[in-house]
Formats: sequence, structure tokens, C-alpha cells
Amino acid sequence: MRSRMHRKWIVLSGIIVCVINLNLTADPDANLRTPLGIVDPANSNSSHNPITELGHERSFYLAGSEELGENEMRVIALGSGMPQIQRNQASACWLVELGNGDSFIFDIGSGCTPNMSMLEIPWDTFTKVFITHLHSDHFGDLPTLLAGGWQMGRSVPLEVWGPSGLTPELGTEAAIEHLLGMFRWEFVSKSGRAPMSSYAIKVHEFDYTKEQVVYDRNGVVIRSWPAVHVMDGPVSYSLEWNGLKFSYSGDTTANNFFLENAKNSDIVVHECSDPIEVLIESRSWPPEAAWMIATSAHTQPAIAGQVFNVLKPRMAVCFHYVDNGLDSRQKLSAGVREIYQGPFSVAEDLMVWNITPETIRVRKVIGGNYAFSLPRGNELPDKSKLVRASDWLEKERMDASEVYRHVLENLDPAYRKQILEKVPKNMLPE
Ligand SMILES: [Zn+2]
Ligand SMILES: [Zn+2]
Repeated sequence: MRSRMHRKWIVLSGIIVCVINLNLTADPDANLRTPLGIVDPANSNSSHNPITELGHERSFYLAGSEELGENEMRVIALGSGMPQIQRNQASACWLVELGNGDSFIFDIGSGCTPNMSMLEIPWDTFTKVFITHLHSDHFGDLPTLLAGGWQMGRSVPLEVWGPSGLTPELGTEAAIEHLLGMFRWEFVSKSGRAPMSSYAIKVHEFDYTKEQVVYDRNGVVIRSWPAVHVMDGPVSYSLEWNGLKFSYSGDTTANNFFLENAKNSDIVVHECSDPIEVLIESRSWPPEAAWMIATSAHTQPAIAGQVFNVLKPRMAVCFHYVDNGLDSRQKLSAGVREIYQGPFSVAEDLMVWNITPETIRVRKVIGGNYAFSLPRGNELPDKSKLVRASDWLEKERMDASEVYRHVLENLDPAYRKQILEKVPKNMLPE
């Protein structure tokens, strides 16, 4: 085994040096020097073009570049974390895309929307949101999805599904009513200036106590059932389509509802919170608090292993931990592996699973750091809704008409023509 590895390395090194030699010296007969000695050029010639012929499918998913097959589901971790605020990890958020063109968001935790943005796919992909419960790490970026997603080009209102609570004011509908109240100034400031029909949320609140179908359209069935997490209200979900099944725990301690309802899943995404030692040593929790929270509100990795062992999904996935970029994933994995030996991933942000009846492929997403909004259609602003600033504010604008005139003169003539035709005279330089 050792000597085979050794030979492989020489050949690989040879190819790399060969490419350099061909480019720089154009002398195919020159000796090839590698860190392991000189290689015979005859063994290292390659007929492949190193740029255009990879020889296998790419090992990453270039966001937005692959159409799904008729029987294919793609699951992307847009957030794998907890409420801790980290630049390298968003709170819980899962995108499920289907071969029939439908797509669904499960949880919309704080910080996840930049990961949506970097996919650079139409924002109508992110219109159906299923919230497991009303902790900030599971719905904290809903305000950003409402306002920012509208800005990015969403053409239809958001639809949000979420559980009721012990009392009406603890349910999803009440939370969203207050969220919309919080955005009243923003909404009024934009009305009359921009099309606003998609700046809205349709809420579907359902009874958290029931095991039931909460969505049934276009061959896609989403079920909900109670989760056991802190107090009444939280739920878990499954999505079934075309013989494939995705199950998602949200936050919960391991429970019988999940073991029953997540049976026969192709992919099970279950929370695994950091091991108790990590809570004490890395996150400065008193041991007694670490024990109580870890066991009463969440699922320790070895317990998640027990859940996976019962369900035996084609792919088990853990999330809901603090990714320290070092050893946190290994610690989580070691805990699960004490119990469970089947197919398994510890999620990190922008991990992607492609699932067909025959195969499951795990990769990372490659996307961009810069994304622009997309056109939203031909809807015009409703001018009757325009609210202007008071005159005493307006008259304090700095006089910049000379600069504006210069900007206008230097614009593309087609843009200038349209501006001069459509903008009211009092908003143009004299
Ligand atoms: Zn959580
Ligand atoms: Zn929670």
C-alpha cells in the first residue's frame, strides 16, 4: 500500500511540473525535477487540457448552475448554528429545492439571508418559509427576508407557516403582526415610490399540538408534529415529494413524535447541540446549567446517534452547534459515532446534499460575495400612497443643482431621455 501511494505522488508531481515546463520552456524533453527526484518525461506526458477536461464531475456545487433531475431533491444548509453571533456561521436555515421547480425554507435564523444572496438565484425561491418555533435563531432573519428579499426582487408576498402557542400572543401570527408593525415606517416610506404588492406576509398558523399535514400542493406534502423544547409551541416537519422524504427536527430533545413521524426518511436533519464539556469549557457555562440546558432543551450528539440508529435514514445530518472552525465538528461527530455508524454529515453553512432514489451526493456550495437585485416585473408604484417629507425639511436640502446637471448630461442619452420625460420638473436641475 505504501509503495503504491509513493508512485502515485511521483506521477502527480510529474504532471504538475510538466505543465509548468510546457508553458515556460516549451521543452518537452527536459528532465522533470520533483521533490522526490527526477522523473522520466515519458511517464508524465498528459493529453488532457488541465483547464477544460477535469475528467470527473466537479467536487463543489456552483450555485445556480445545475438543473435538478425529475426525481431529485437538493438540500442546502443556509445556516447550521445557534443564536451565537458568528461571521462564519448563520443560525438555523435550510433550503429544500425539488425537481418539480418548488422550493421551501425551513427556519430563517439570524444571519442566514446573506447565504441566500450568495446563491444568486431568483428571490422567488425564498417565498415559502416553515418556522419550527419562535426563538431568534429560527426566525430572526424573517424581517431581513421581508424587506431585503423584496429589495432583491421577490415578486410575490412571503408565505409563512408556523405553530400556535399556549396563548394567542405566543403564536406565529401574533409574532408576525408585531413584526409588520415594527416595519410600518419603512413600508410607508416606500409606498408610492416603489411597487409594494410583494412587501407582505401571508401567515398560516397551525395547531402545534397536532400531528398533521400543514401543506399539500403540487405533489408536495409537508407534515408537522410537536417538538419537546423548553415549553409548548415548537414543532418538527417532514417534506414528502415523489417518493423522497426530508425530515427536520428544529430544536428538540429526542422524542417519540419524531421517531414515529420521521420514519422512512431519505435525509434526517436533527439537532445536535455541543457536548456538555464544550458548553462548560468553550462557552463558559456553569456545569449545572450546561447539564440542565443540554438535556432538557436540546439533543446531545450521542442521543442524536440513538435517534439515527432507530430511524436509519439514507443520510443523517447534525446541526445546531457553534462552529469554531477547529475541532467542534469532530467533537460532535465523535459523539454521534459512539452510537451510530451509518451515513452521516455534520452540517456546516453552505453544505449541499443532492438526493435521488439511487444516490446521495454531499458537497459544498461555491457562490459569490456580491449579488445585485433582480428585476421584479412591470408593477408601478401607487402614487396615491406617496408621503413626502415636510416642507421645512425639503427646503434645507443643500443646493447641488450644478452637480446634478453635470451628472444628467453625462448619462447615457437613452437614460437621460427617459428621465427628462418621466420625472416631475421640480425634481430636475433647472
Ligand atoms: Zn435553536
Ligand atoms: Zn430553540
